[in-house]
Amino acid sequence: EPSLSGQKVLVFGLAKSGVAAIRLLLAHGARVTALDERDEAALGAVAVDLKAQGVPLVHGPVPPGLLESQALVVVSPGVPLSRPEFKAARAAGVPIWGEVELASRFLSAVPLFGITGTNGKSTTTALTGELFSRGGGRTFVGGNLGRPFSEAALTPEAWDALVVELSSFQLEGIQQMRARGAAILNLTPDHIDRYESHAAYGQAKTRIFLNQGVGDFAVVNVDDPDVVGLARQARVPRYGFSLTGNPVEALELAGRAVAQEGGFRLDFLKETYSLTNRALRGAHNAQNAMAATLLARLGGVPREAVQAGLDGYPGLPHRLESVRVLDGVEWVNDSKATNVDSVLVALRAFAGNLLLIAGGKGKGAPYQPMVDEGRGKVKAVLTIGQDAELLAAAYREAAPVHACGTLEVAVRRARELAKGGDTVLLSPACASYDQFKNFEDRGETFKRLVKAL
Ligand code: ADP
Repeated sequence: EPSLSGQKVLVFGLAKSGVAAIRLLLAHGARVTALDERDEAALGAVAVDLKAQGVPLVHGPVPPGLLESQALVVVSPGVPLSRPEFKAARAAGVPIWGEVELASRFLSAVPLFGITGTNGKSTTTALTGELFSRGGGRTFVGGNLGRPFSEAALTPEAWDALVVELSSFQLEGIQQMRARGAAILNLTPDHIDRYESHAAYGQAKTRIFLNQGVGDFAVVNVDDPDVVGLARQARVPRYGFSLTGNPVEALELAGRAVAQEGGFRLDFLKETYSLTNRALRGAHNAQNAMAATLLARLGGVPREAVQAGLDGYPGLPHRLESVRVLDGVEWVNDSKATNVDSVLVALRAFAGNLLLIAGGKGKGAPYQPMVDEGRGKVKAVLTIGQDAELLAAAYREAAPVHACGTLEVAVRRARELAKGGDTVLLSPACASYDQFKNFEDRGETFKRLVKAL
């Protein structure tokens, strides 16, 4: 445990995890300075709180020499570690830790189960948390999702297990963090704005294996060739999960989870699990469930608790969330699907009879892939928001398009069009900012409208 009492520590970036890091540092007697590019007005309540705690606040450009004068700099995941200020501070011998690294220094006695990947992190983290909570003792669930990891570090004695979602940004900022179980779900091009290349992005993800040793293990998606490549860097037993069960020659595995009709099996334990929970429908969720099950079983959660957790997992809001069934029509909120890839994943999770509500602030990617994926499945498309015309053009021959403009009109229209056995799916393929605060606001609005029907 680092001794921070009386030490000067600067926290760079005052989003949720930066603020949590400050609380942790203050609890350990550090002399904290907070820095953010936003001014006090923009920071609002955060600025007021920090002032009340006597934490000096610096905003605007970083004053020369400020970082170099610290005993430690703690960086929020939203702040790129490539910033020149950090280079200078490092050269002056000041350690630069990510917020996750800081928290992990106080939690080294508790086994940590880390989850990273491009997609499915939150679902897998929440599900793994559910499994551990049912059979692995007192479990902290958080990190990139929900509660910042520093909150766990305020009460290290309160936990038997830590289940932590780790973004590649967070992984860049670790040095001694050690994962007892480390999972990589998949790797698709994303965040290219912050990485020079796909390879650099992948390299950040492999940091989840850093510091692993005797007793630790890795969990990897062996259907994803990029992940298989990264997994070779793990120095601990590797466990794969697969939808296909195809042999994996490129990687030596200690065991595997393989999907089968209605569930999956763990070959090394000769166990089968059923997967019937509606909150985990779709092949992508079978992958998430296999990853979570491997983490839990290898982390000591009994088999019965795992099956109970798979059955009882309530799902996360806005990810294929079943809102209600009305006159035989199921209404599903997938507002988190802000890009075309996520819509493809959603479409694959249904057999057909879909009324798709889509549109919003598009990201410039072609819509054709979702038109193709939905052929024979999507009976009608109801468009909303800015990209309505582009969507209509893409679907021209594939399905009838109803231009609705707003979500309110789309829900009303879908109610008229839907017949028993249909599913109305909000999976917009677009960002929400043209009509809503964020995807959560869009999803909540949808749920409110649907519940009022
Ligand atoms: P993240 O936290 O990584 O963004 P989420 O669990 O919130 O992951 O899922 C985000 C979206 O990614 C979902 O709406 C779904 O479309 C897609 N998704 C979820 N799991 C997977 C997976 N295993 N593989 C591919 N796509 C997935």
